Amino acid sequence: MLDKTPTTRVQALLDTLGAALETGRIEDAVHLFAEECYWRDLVAFTWNIKTVEGRDQVRDMLQAQLAGAKPSNWRVAAGEEATEADGVLESWISFETATGRGYGLVRFKNGLVWTLLTALAELKGHEEKSGFTRPLGAKHGQNLGARTWKEEREHEERTLGYEKQPYVVIIGGGQGGIALGARLRQLGVPTIILEKNDRPGDSWRKRYKSLCLHDPVWYDHLPYIDFPKNWPVFAPKDKIGDWLEFYTKVMELNYWTRSTAKSAKWDEAAKEWTIIVDRDGEEVVLKPSSSSLRRACPARPIFPISRGASASEANSTIPRSIRDRTDTRARRLPSSVRTTQPMTSAPPSMRRVSMSR
Ligand SMILES: Cc1cc2nc3c(=O)[nH]c(=O)nc-3n(C[C@H](O)[C@H](O)[C@H](O)COP(=O)(O)OP(=O)(O)OC[C@H]3O[C@@H](n4cnc5c(N)ncnc54)[C@H](O)[C@@H]3O)c2cc1C
Repeated sequence: MLDKTPTTRVQALLDTLGAALETGRIEDAVHLFAEECYWRDLVAFTWNIKTVEGRDQVRDMLQAQLAGAKPSNWRVAAGEEATEADGVLESWISFETATGRGYGLVRFKNGLVWTLLTALAELKGHEEKSGFTRPLGAKHGQNLGARTWKEEREHEERTLGYEKQPYVVIIGGGQGGIALGARLRQLGVPTIILEKNDRPGDSWRKRYKSLCLHDPVWYDHLPYIDFPKNWPVFAPKDKIGDWLEFYTKVMELNYWTRSTAKSAKWDEAAKEWTIIVDRDGEEVVLKPSSSSLRRACPARPIFPISRGASASEANSTIPRSIRDRTDTRARRLPSSVRTTQPMTSAPPSMRRVSMSR
C-alpha cells in the first residue's frame, strides 16, 4: 500500500509538523516531539550552532526563533527514500525558512520526532552559481583594452587588501579556511585568507610522519572538486597538503602565505574590523567591511577575535575545557565545537555547512 511506505509516513508527519510551525502553534509543534528529543540546528533557525534537548528546550527555541525563521515546505529530500529499522523512521529532509533553504535529517519514534537536524544550505537571493547556473566566462568579439582572465587575477591579487578592502578576512588557511574561502569566492564575496605557514597545506605537512586521513577519503571532499577516484582510502598527510595547495590555486583564492594576524578589533561605529597583519615582514592593515572569521581556535598560536573585545578578553570566549587542552587533543575536537566566533548577521560564509554523507 502506497500510503504505508516509510517515505509517505515521514511526509505525513512532516506535513503535520510543518503546519504547526507555519501557523505558529508552538505548543502543538512541541507535542510532536518525543519527551526525549534532540534538535541540532546549524544556522537555519538560530544563526548559530545549537542543540536543544527535550520538549522544554524545543519550546524555548521556538518561542525565540520561530517568528523570524518562518519555516515552510518540509519535504522528504528530493531523490531520497525514508527508511525504517528497529522502530525508528528516518529520512533526509529539505525545508525553507524566510531567508534560506535548508536540509536535514529526521528520526521519528512512535510517530514523534526523536532527533532532528536542520542545516541552512543557501540564502535566498544569493544562490551559488554552479552547475546549470555557472558563469558563462567567454567574452567573444574584440574588446580593446579588456583584461584577460590572467590579467584580472593579477590585478585582484595586487590590489585586494591594499587599494580595495576585502569583505571577509579568514584567519587561518587550513582546510576549513580554504573550503570556506572557495565558497565565498563562488558567492562573489571579496575574501582574503591569512596563513602564517609558507604554503597552503603546510598545516598537514608539518604534522607527524605517519599521519593520514582518519576518515575515508570520500567523506573528506572539499567543495566543487572531489578527491580523485583512484586515491587511497586513507590518503597520507603530504598528499593532502599538496591537494590543498592545488585546490587553493585552481579555486583562485586570495591566499596570503607567511601572513600572521597579529591583532583584530571590531569598531562598532565604523562597522568594520581592523586586523593587523604581518605579511612576510610587511605590516598590512586590513579593514574587512562586515565580518571576519577565525579558524582553528585551539591550534597554537591561538588567535582570538571577538567583536569589540581585546585579544585576552576574546580568548576567554573559548571554553576553558578547550583552551586548556594540548594542541593534539584540542585539534581532535569536532570543528563545530572549535568554532566559537559569534555571527551577528546572516553571513554569506554560512551558506553551506559541510556534512559528510
Ligand atoms: C590526526 C588527525 C586526523 C584527522 N583526520 C581527518 C580526516 O580524515 N578527515 C577530516 O575531515 N578531518 C580530519 N581531521 C580533522 C581536520 O584535520 C581538522 O578538522 C581540520 O584540519 C580543521 O581545519 P581548520 O582549517 O579549521 O584548522 P587547521 O587545519 O588547524 O588550520 C588552521 C590554520 O590557521 C593557521 N593560523 C593559526 N593562527 C594564525 C594566525 N594568527 N594568523 C594566520 N594563520 C594562523 C595555522 O597555521 C593553520 O594552518 C583530522 C585531525 C587530526 C588531528
